[in-house]
Amino acid sequence: MRVLVIEDEHKIAQFIKTGLEIESWAVDLAFDGEAGLDLATTEKYDVLVIDLMLPKLSGIEIIHILRDKEHIHTPILILTAKGATGDKVECLNAGADDYLVKPFVFAELVARIRALSRRPLTQTEGVLQQSNLIVDTIRHEVSRNKKKITLSKREYSLLEFLLKHKGKVKSKDEIIQNVWSYEDDVLPNTVEVYINYLREKIDKPFPKSKSIIQTIRGFGYKVDNNEK
Ligand code: CA
Repeated sequence: MRVLVIEDEHKIAQFIKTGLEIESWAVDLAFDGEAGLDLATTEKYDVLVIDLMLPKLSGIEIIHILRDKEHIHTPILILTAKGATGDKVECLNAGADDYLVKPFVFAELVARIRALSRRPLTQTEGVLQQSNLIVDTIRHEVSRNKKKITLSKREYSLLEFLLKHKGKVKSKDEIIQNVWSYEDDVLPNTVEVYINYLREKIDKPFPKSKSIIQTIRGFGYKVDNNEK
């Protein structure tokens, strides 16, 4: 198991590293937000432990970038100072999986990291397919009938979300919560607008193929489950 700890207080960082190495885990340290983000996006980890107050990039900024821009779903445990309730909620909303308030008991840190590492990952790797549409979730490449399709990041996220939940109707609210970030301005027709953008790119140019996204009037949208 490999853990990245992003913590600017060297003493605490070293203390965590030493403790986790006793558990036979490989531990990388980063002492500021930028260095941490760099490692988190280039290396593979089982769990990320991120302190909230960091120089260069804050913990919350790192979470937003990892989840929204990089589509990295590695479990994240946040370390927060005592009493910073607002921060905690904000982090969980942004996509953190758990938090621990400093000072903490070491055994609890170990237990929480272990629990997070066992959590099945949302399918983030490999290939999502719907008839002749293929989404490579590692390279973020989309193609249909072997023709490459260029999507914006938001269009891509929306398509990935619907494909991952094949056969299930997803309401606009659910889509917003999963595809848009906490701070984005979302208007009532935003989802419709993006569904239309997507259809222009993935359905319109392929009139002989079945359309990928179904509208379920009054409920939301879905991708059918009856195909591979
Ligand atoms: Ca700090």
